[in-house]
Amino acid sequence: MSHFIMIAIDGPSASGKGTLAHRLAEQFHLFYLDTGALYRCVAKYILDHALNPDDHTAAERAAHYIHDHLNLEMLMDPALRTQEVADATSRCSRFPSMRKILLDLQRNFAHHPPHSAGSKPWMGSILDGRDIGTVVCPEADIKFFVTASLEVRARRRHQELLTRGHAHDFETVFEEMLERDERDKNRSAAPALPADDAVILDSSLMSADDVFEKACDIVRERVL
Ligand code: C5P
Repeated sequence: MSHFIMIAIDGPSASGKGTLAHRLAEQFHLFYLDTGALYRCVAKYILDHALNPDDHTAAERAAHYIHDHLNLEMLMDPALRTQEVADATSRCSRFPSMRKILLDLQRNFAHHPPHSAGSKPWMGSILDGRDIGTVVCPEADIKFFVTASLEVRARRRHQELLTRGHAHDFETVFEEMLERDERDKNRSAAPALPADDAVILDSSLMSADDVFEKACDIVRERVL
């Protein structure tokens, strides 16, 4: 690898972008930041403090707190993964003033990641989310947009929730996902859309392994 590489992965929920980001990070020794988890931390703060996710001042207050106190363990908290937090996240993350507070933090991780725990320095960074290729890292070497049909994604999320012990019926999961997709896509600030130069990977009919292999080929072709 000739230089510090940067990969952006965007896509809707349960598209497989997180799985792909994890695997690429391991394969190419890249620092990985799940920006969805960052936004979820803000929403969890709002819920924990009985604030309103539809109120932009609450969203700003929470984002300032997370900006100043974030550590990598917070991003791993299983409590971030509930439907309640997911719903509050897409509500509070539509405010441009709140997104702005988190922007430099994400860019800083992308350009200057924390030291690698092993002896080998990071070869680059990989961030996943909704606006990485369009807003956070438009300069990324490669931008992937991972997607899949709503039906397929809702089945995956339903299964994941059952595995985690959260009982939800499929129809509710489907409706909530549809609502969240619409809100994320149609908001005026950083809508969840592919960058013009993004590589679209549709995982509806591909296995996670096939998506990974295809993405690896593209990384090797373009930046190695
Ligand atoms: O990817 P994940 O499902 O964890 O994201 C949760 C929510 O966070 C999304 O529905 C979206 O509203 C918000 N988000 C965002 N911008 C990002 C990442 C996530 O607005 N870069």
